[in-house]
Amino acid sequence: MSAMLSAQGLSRRFGGVQAVHDMGLEVPEGSITGLIGPNGAGKSTLFNLLSGVIRPQSGLVQYKGQDVTRVAPYKRARLGLIRTFQLSREFGRLTVLENLMLSPQMQLGEKMWPLFTKARDVATADAKIYERALEVMEIAKLTPLRDAYAGDLSGGQKKLLELARTLMIDCDLILLDEPGAGVNPALMGALTEMIRSLNTDHGKTFLIVEHDMDLISRLCDPVVVMTEGTFLTSGPFDTIRDDPRVIKAYLGGAVDA
Ligand code: ADP
Ligand code: MG
Repeated sequence: MSAMLSAQGLSRRFGGVQAVHDMGLEVPEGSITGLIGPNGAGKSTLFNLLSGVIRPQSGLVQYKGQDVTRVAPYKRARLGLIRTFQLSREFGRLTVLENLMLSPQMQLGEKMWPLFTKARDVATADAKIYERALEVMEIAKLTPLRDAYAGDLSGGQKKLLELARTLMIDCDLILLDEPGAGVNPALMGALTEMIRSLNTDHGKTFLIVEHDMDLISRLCDPVVVMTEGTFLTSGPFDTIRDDPRVIKAYLGGAVDA
């Protein structure tokens, strides 16, 4: 497997804090790669660097062999590299169907407000997008919630909707920051299944930051471990779990916290 996304020598400082230092990693094409590490290890900062939300002070990010280090997030999205975000307040006031139908337009980096006025006519919008939204709701098991406001969904249902939105756009690599956070145990299974199905049936590659080791162990291979802003090791979960350096990194983090 070749690397779909790779980073080399990435560093980013905030004032006196070196959040990420000389970090490198590879996300193999077709993989569900996990990213773990104790609190403050720099995982979220790395995600922001990979998606383009912030720029590194040094280092390189390559996506499909192309240098995207200085490419804006919406342009990375057009290239097929996306990051899911919590649904914003505004999107909470749209229905599940409307959220799905707006996703392809959002990817084009259009201004938000015209989209919200357009949302009212969403039922008469592009028939192809509508058809696709119906299919995607079936895949995500969201059909019964089609007219529910996104803001009224449970934490787990919102995560399913976020994942469903990625099926509305042409993306190849999805960055997920803590998909399991705020998801009740009953929906964890559905969420895990959905990620697996997006990977095996729809060809999406994932990079997932997650604290829930159960989710990591069930989905991710390889697992990359970060500590103190930099790469520690990577490999299959079972190998990582028994690595004394990994255990030490977590214990150290717990003592610091
Ligand atoms: P993780 O997601 O692994 O918990 P973060 O990337 O959030 O780690 O944080 C790494 C370090 O960088 C922490 O010490 C954190 O306090 C610091 N940090 C992150 N973002 C900022 C910021 N915007 N300003 C200042 N310090 C930050
Ligand atoms: Mg974080």
